[in-house]
Amino acid sequence: MNFVVEEMEQLLKKGYYRQMRRLDGSQASRTVIGGKECVLLSSNNYLGLTEHPEVKEAAKLAVDRWGAGSGGSRLITGNYALHEEMEKEIARFKREEGAITFSSGYMANFGVIQALVDRGDVVLSDELNHSSIVDGCRLSRAKVKVYRHRDMEHLEKILRQAKGYRRRLIVTDGVFSMDGDLAPLPDIVALAGQYGAFVMVDDAHGTGVLGRRGAGTVEHFGLEGKVQVQMGTLSKALGSAGAYVAGKRELIDYLRNKTRSFIYSTAPAPAAVGAALAALRLVERQPEIRAQLWENARYLRVGLKSMGYKVPSEDSPIIPVLIGDADKTMHLAQALLEEGVFAPGIRPPTVPQGTCRIRATVMAIHTRGDLDQALSAFARAGRDNQVKLGC
Ligand code: PMP
Repeated sequence: MNFVVEEMEQLLKKGYYRQMRRLDGSQASRTVIGGKECVLLSSNNYLGLTEHPEVKEAAKLAVDRWGAGSGGSRLITGNYALHEEMEKEIARFKREEGAITFSSGYMANFGVIQALVDRGDVVLSDELNHSSIVDGCRLSRAKVKVYRHRDMEHLEKILRQAKGYRRRLIVTDGVFSMDGDLAPLPDIVALAGQYGAFVMVDDAHGTGVLGRRGAGTVEHFGLEGKVQVQMGTLSKALGSAGAYVAGKRELIDYLRNKTRSFIYSTAPAPAAVGAALAALRLVERQPEIRAQLWENARYLRVGLKSMGYKVPSEDSPIIPVLIGDADKTMHLAQALLEEGVFAPGIRPPTVPQGTCRIRATVMAIHTRGDLDQALSAFARAGRDNQVKLGC
């Protein structure tokens, strides 16, 4: 097992060694790290719903009614009325005929892609798609063709060459998790129609955030009914844990029968489902929470840009602050923490080499005071670490 030590030494040398920071507080706008209170500026809890009293109460009620665990897979002994209600509500929210839930987004992507394509098929995947998509593609045994990020000419070129395959699946993040930009879905849907492909969108970061009703990227682009496989998570704006796929009734039935990560895994825990259901109702009932999220995103982005930070995307509450070099990024993240702001640095393999960044995200529950503290910290930490701004 010498390789373990050798490989870890390599990681250290490259500056890619990863360490976990322990939070001694929750996913509120301020949390506690190393005994110190700091602004939490990197959570996917976009709407702040992990903290919402109605969501917490729903989780407790679900435990009281259904217990702490679900005791088996959905197809054996773990299928409760609560799961079925969740699926009905998701389908209604997404304006689809049906939905299927999973214990995590990773499991959903990983399993669903394997269920949809096999040997003799081809998957066309954006180069910046989430790792769960990458792994689902790898395991599917289909031919995987990666197109340049959001590059529709490249996608069309590959589609043109992909005529000989049985099925053609185009898969993309709706909102890219590390860049915060959106997939050009109208173009993707048009190309799919032209070349006889079908489309799967991972809306982990769009669900509850984008669109007039918060239904996600597909609603944002007015493409309801045109994206065959709509995946999303319950773990980000919906403040809980788990994932869903929504689509036509026959697709959902097919996935229930064919998706190994659904068939062979214990059903989502009642507390998680109860919380997500309550969160979904809040998303629909209180659009003002989403409006506050977007206002906070605008405020932080404008502030960072006015200091000269390179903030490439304007499309979502994910605000990547591009630094480039791994060491510089990690020093900046550490300096931010010392200033009372938790926004970790992101390095390869999560992002391509030379594009290390601070991945800042805002939440609807950040106050102006929280965001001003974050901006002051970026100003001081950037200056002290001689981050080259405006490049
Ligand atoms: N897809 C995307 C785009 C994600 O960002 C994530 C999680 N960060 C996932 C899927 C996986 O979801 P989960 O964390 O629920 O496993």
